[in-house]
Amino acid sequence: MTRSFRSDSTIAVHAGEPDPRIGGAVSMPIFQSANYLHEGTEHHVDTRYIRLTNTPNHEVLHAKLIALARAEAALVTGSGMAAISAALLSVLGSGDHVLCIDGPYGGTLNFIEDELPRLGISHTFIDGRDPGEWEAARRPETRAIYVESITNPMMQVPDLQAVVSFARSHGLVSMVDNTFATPINFRPLEIGFDLSLHSATKYMNGHSDIVAGVVLGRRDLVEAAGLLLNHLGGSLDPHACFLLHRGLKTLPLRVRQQNAGAAAVARALADHPAVATVNYPGFESTPGHEHARALFDGFGGMLSFDLVGGVEAAKRFTAHLSIPLHAASLGGVESLVIRPAVTAYADVPADRRRRLGVTDGLVRMSVGIEDPDELVADVVQALDRCDASVLSAR
Ligand SMILES: *Cc1c(COP(=O)(O)O)cnc(C)c1O
Repeated sequence: MTRSFRSDSTIAVHAGEPDPRIGGAVSMPIFQSANYLHEGTEHHVDTRYIRLTNTPNHEVLHAKLIALARAEAALVTGSGMAAISAALLSVLGSGDHVLCIDGPYGGTLNFIEDELPRLGISHTFIDGRDPGEWEAARRPETRAIYVESITNPMMQVPDLQAVVSFARSHGLVSMVDNTFATPINFRPLEIGFDLSLHSATKYMNGHSDIVAGVVLGRRDLVEAAGLLLNHLGGSLDPHACFLLHRGLKTLPLRVRQQNAGAAAVARALADHPAVATVNYPGFESTPGHEHARALFDGFGGMLSFDLVGGVEAAKRFTAHLSIPLHAASLGGVESLVIRPAVTAYADVPADRRRRLGVTDGLVRMSVGIEDPDELVADVVQALDRCDASVLSAR
């Protein structure tokens, strides 16, 4: 019997689970076995082996992810970068060109700038909200357009529907890193993207305890990425599969709580005299808000802001927080704050950083699943104490 489920919350718990359950186990067991008995298979890809991403733990994960993202096919990988690199390298070959959103995730930026040229693959960085610029940058050898559904750390949303139309009219593969939005807030494949990529290290697993990635999308493209991943060796271990599988069951619950928490924190920041600007896809003032409003079911758990008092105020703010931890990464149950200028953007030249809007004092916050009121109270007390001159003028 194939059972079908309607809403995200139900899909996350029940979709893809083995039916009947293996040995009666309610929770999918860990198959910690590198290899499997040869059962008369003819082709090596039919052999079960962890590196080939085809063990029982991989297969149930694929089925759950396909249901959550409304995808034709899914591939789990050993990290978000394994998903991104395998997807890009399976689409692009020597002589090809890719259009890439300016200021992508740092690892992606380094991969595109440091590795692709050695393989004869060129790139042009584009403004994700300016389709006219894409047309000017397109070449006869352009094969793909690569964007992020919410940019880091400025939280801008590209013209995602225009990316799909542009790719279709020029025969390009459309790729989007959907890590920040998750399939709960945005399903790129439903609006026509060919591939949706994720660092599952972040929201999908959600507990800051594994590194993993996901490629979702058109069957032929996901299969090509999977074959390349077999060669590159970036598979996910069964124990990490088990943790990701467990994390996915609460993805809708967590993301909805994070949406609510981030909205509350963003409003409190915007209302506070110590805060100069807030970048949050739910605010009209954040570029691309109209695309988020049109396409997203929620604005996500990420925001960033500048304080009136700049770097020094940012340091005091961070030191006075008692709930959010001061750490990089994002998407876990615990709230985190970090200054991108001294972490992910530390190696980016100052002029490029400025062009991307990343000031030295910018604070990025990943809102966790803590109680929104308690989190807001903590943020407000830290703001109250971060900038004496602003507050004495209040
Ligand atoms: C973290 C992250 C990645 C890389 O993922 P890893 O799991 O660390 O390899 C890619 N894209 C975005 C948007 C990320 O936040």
